Amino acid sequence: MRVLVVEDEAKMVALLQRGLREEGHEVDLCTRGADALDQAAAVPYDVVLLDWSLPDFDGIALLRRWRDAGLRTPVLMLTARGSVGERVTGLRAGADDYLTKPFDFDELLARLEALHRRGGGHEARRRLGRARLDANRRTLAVGDLEESLTAREFMLLSELAGHAGETLTRSELLTSIWGAGFDGTPNVVDVYVGYVRAKLRRLGVDQEITIKSVRGTGYRLVITEAT
Ligand code: CA
Repeated sequence: MRVLVVEDEAKMVALLQRGLREEGHEVDLCTRGADALDQAAAVPYDVVLLDWSLPDFDGIALLRRWRDAGLRTPVLMLTARGSVGERVTGLRAGADDYLTKPFDFDELLARLEALHRRGGGHEARRRLGRARLDANRRTLAVGDLEESLTAREFMLLSELAGHAGETLTRSELLTSIWGAGFDGTPNVVDVYVGYVRAKLRRLGVDQEITIKSVRGTGYRLVITEAT
């Protein structure tokens, strides 16, 4: 399974990472809600483990925003609060399951596996004009033509598509795709825009699905529906 862990407590993070990796799962970590917001939408995770209380965001608020945005990835909420009222709040906000700390790791694992089996899946497919963007296979297809995207290319195109018509600055794109801790050059955004444009061109849709450069600022995706 590919699991996103959203948790800020170092001890809990270490426990979860070690335990899940020992079981052969792939684990990504966000310690801040703001990072998790985009991360969960950009990568097709099988399950998200979400802590109720985060330093910058309320786990519940985060979950509501994911669900409002159409994200259907199964979410297991972790919390120190055990009251029935809070459990109900969590489930109403769109959590699929709920576990109170401290918990038994084997129980956590069993519940994650159950959620994964039950599926629910991700926002698997999205249309961009005539093209289909598939999160599970990480492909962009038009008719019978198909291009594979790398994880970053996929995230870049998804991010632009989620804000189609709006200009996203280089630094916004850097933060949402490469993370707030990225310390390389901002030109990496331009390089990846180049890669994605080349794939749109190969699919023959670069005139209708266009990543426009906004001088000195960033990029904007413009989709012109073919008539
Ligand atoms: Ca916490």
